Amino acid sequence: TFVVLEGGEGAGKSTQVGQLTVWLREEGFEVVTTREPGATKLGMRLRALLLDKDDMTISARTEALLYIADRANHIEEVILPALRRGAIVISDRYVDSTIAYQGAGRDLDSAGVEMINAWATEDLIPHLTVLLDLPVEDGLARVGGSTDRMESEPQEFHTRVRKGFRDLAERDPGRYLIVDARMSQEEVTREIQRRVRPLLPD
Ligand code: C5P
Repeated sequence: TFVVLEGGEGAGKSTQVGQLTVWLREEGFEVVTTREPGATKLGMRLRALLLDKDDMTISARTEALLYIADRANHIEEVILPALRRGAIVISDRYVDSTIAYQGAGRDLDSAGVEMINAWATEDLIPHLTVLLDLPVEDGLARVGGSTDRMESEPQEFHTRVRKGFRDLAERDPGRYLIVDARMSQEEVTREIQRRVRPLLPD
C-alpha cells in the first residue's frame, strides 16, 4: 500500500505523516516513512542543490528535472523495495508536488511535466494521495517565513501551487482525499485514518 501526503507550506504534512506512521505501526504493520526531495544519498545531494541555490541559476525546466531525478532514485532505492516486501509506504510529497510547484507555480506546461513523471516513475501511482489544503495566508502565517519558498516566492506563486494541487485532486476523487487543514490536528488525523483504513492489507 502506497500513501502520499501533499500540500503547500504550513499545511502540517510532516506532523500528519508522523501521526499516520505511529498509528499504522500500532496496528502492527511494517511502515516505511519517506519524503521528497532527499530520501536517498543522491536525493540528499539533489535536495541541497534545489533548496540552497546560492548563486546558481536553475530554470523551471531544470528544477523540474532535478526533482524528477530525485523521484526516480527514490522509487528505485526506497519505495519499490518496500512495497515488494509488503510494507506500507508513506511519502511526504510525490509527483503532485512537481506538477503543483514547477508546473502550476512556475508556469511550465503541466502535460509535459506529467509525461516526464509518468516515464520516470514507470507509472507508479499511489493508492491514495491526501491533500492537506490550506488557504495561502494561513500557511504563510503558520510558517512565518521560515522556509526557503516562503522567503523567495510571492504569494501569487503559492496561490497557483494550491490551485495546482486542488485541480489534481478534484480530477480523480477516487484516489484523493482533500482535507481542510484548518481543522485541528486531531481532526485531520482522524479523517486521514478513516480513509486509509479500508486500504490496509489483512
Ligand atoms: O516538504 P518540504 O518542506 O521538505 O519541502 C522543502 C521545500 O521544497 C519547500 O519549501 C517546498 O516549497 C519546495 N518544493 C518545491 N518543489 C517541489 C517540492 C518541494 O519547490 N516539487
